[in-house]
Amino acid sequence: MDPAPRATCFCRVCELAREKGIPHARTGCSLFVDDAKLLFDTPEEVRLQLNRERIRDFDHLILTHWHPDHTHGIRILEQVNWNFAEGKPFKAPIKVYISAQQQEWFKKYSCGAFLDFYVKRGMIEIVPMEHKKDIVVDDVTIRPYLIDHTKGFCFVITKADKKAVYIPCEYHHVIPDPEIKNADIFIAHNLFWENKEISPRKNPPVDEDSFEEMLKHADAFGTKKIILTHIEESFQLDHDEMNEKMKRYYPDYDVQAGYDGMKIVL
Ligand SMILES: [Zn+2]
Ligand SMILES: [Zn+2]
Ligand SMILES: [Zn+2]
Repeated sequence: MDPAPRATCFCRVCELAREKGIPHARTGCSLFVDDAKLLFDTPEEVRLQLNRERIRDFDHLILTHWHPDHTHGIRILEQVNWNFAEGKPFKAPIKVYISAQQQEWFKKYSCGAFLDFYVKRGMIEIVPMEHKKDIVVDDVTIRPYLIDHTKGFCFVITKADKKAVYIPCEYHHVIPDPEIKNADIFIAHNLFWENKEISPRKNPPVDEDSFEEMLKHADAFGTKKIILTHIEESFQLDHDEMNEKMKRYYPDYDVQAGYDGMKIVL
């Protein structure tokens, strides 16, 4: 994804992001589940994100898939669990959850071999992520559902009677699992709007799920409350404009654009 401001771009959206900062300025796609001290993904700017939000520690990291925009901040594991002065980890290994397929691709196409090195140093422990194999941390349960077409995942995060659905990327040909019902909120990746009045983006991908299809998925999950994530500079919409247009064209849904530092309380 292209965060804003995009280097070397001086369009209206990027200039507004430079001038006003958050919410118009955006960094990469991540999510921190505070009750579980669990981080989803390590975009390039993850160090800045953790500092900005004053996150004190995490023991669990889910790598949703290998793509560079979700993994190229992987060296954050060194900051969190390698004591350079003493040449040993600060604490017990951080649990890193990744599927076998995504780990293979991460190694083949990117810097995934770092994970082996971190395991050897005792900084992390790899936990293979599998379809419907629950990740349980204290009273939070995260169930990953495989998106077969992309080998990415849809995550259902549950605590007591609260439920969030999170699909951060690989949102192509998603078939909502009928098991997922009564979600309080859906945090969804967005690629493009079929409604051209919203975004002037040219040549949107034709074989991927649109915003409008995502609304149908939200219906299947039983929620009208949606937060968009993975928001691209190429949409050419500033934060307020995006919210205003979604409200105007899709008034039946409580849908809003996520932003850096957004806190979601269920
Ligand atoms: Zn721009
Ligand atoms: Zn992505
Ligand atoms: Zn991706």
